Amino acid sequence: MKLLLENWRKFINEEYEPITTLRIFDFDETIAHTRSAARIEAPDGTKAELGNQKEFEEYMAQASAKEGIEAFDAVDALEAKGYNVDLSDYSIVKDPEEITSVTDVMREFPPDSKTFVLTARRAAALGPILDYLEDIGIDSSKVRPMATAGESKGDVIAKMIGNKIMNNGKSNIHRIEYYEDSQRNIEDVIAKVCNDPKLEDIKPLDFELVINKVIHNGDQYQIQRMEC
Ligand SMILES: [Mg+2]
Repeated sequence: MKLLLENWRKFINEEYEPITTLRIFDFDETIAHTRSAARIEAPDGTKAELGNQKEFEEYMAQASAKEGIEAFDAVDALEAKGYNVDLSDYSIVKDPEEITSVTDVMREFPPDSKTFVLTARRAAALGPILDYLEDIGIDSSKVRPMATAGESKGDVIAKMIGNKIMNNGKSNIHRIEYYEDSQRNIEDVIAKVCNDPKLEDIKPLDFELVINKVIHNGDQYQIQRMEC
């Protein structure tokens, strides 16, 4: 009887976790190219229209340096200093062109995995993004959208790894497949997921992060794989 109870206790305490892989997709220039621009007016009246993320990041880096701002996402801090930052194009999905080298992977949902869209956009964009996924034939009920509003994706992904810890003290997540075009975000994720010693204790021994960098090359998109 005692043995039976022991076994039973072991059974109910043993956590069965079917999700071992996270698939994480950025949206802009990863799932789709859109014709969106950020429009910024500086306190001195200078206006800028930034038609892609690289231009936006460069503007933000310059303006942050000028104003002495250190936040990962400087939008709020710049607005507090009198900048007007219009991101309204990014609350809709404007004239999208699907990036099929990514969406062809996305639409196949492997077992044991969970699929996320992790975008730097604000939360208002999540509905339109899910509608767009439906438009291109991706079952949006299988996709969990998250808006970081410009905050660090590395922090978010590190948190996802720590979300569920199994009885052996290790995360249930053994593999992450991350699709992203921004070098800045990729470096942030490498720093916080691959190289942060705090995470080593909870990463399973076989943990893998596969980064698929989406590169726009003339009229086509290519994927470059990196691992850690
Ligand atoms: Mg992007």
